[in-house]
Amino acid sequence: MPRYDFRCRSCGATFELRRAMAQANDPAVCPQGHEDTVKLLSTVAVTGSSTPQQAPSGGGGGGCCGGGCCG
Ligand SMILES: [Zn+2]
Repeated sequence: MPRYDFRCRSCGATFELRRAMAQANDPAVCPQGHEDTVKLLSTVAVTGSSTPQQAPSGGGGGGCCGGGCCG
């Protein structure tokens, strides 16, 4: 079951809820009991440093067209 992050606009708390996808947009209640909450976008592993993957793209003059795969 997917998890959804919510944020309470009353107290500013963020919290997670596990619920079915069909209920993803249902209103959530803050742990403090507030009902003025908004659903956050799913945070995908924002722990520490992110290392973007860069594909080597023709910087050195070799690559695809050097190997004959382009014709
Ligand atoms: Zn709250």
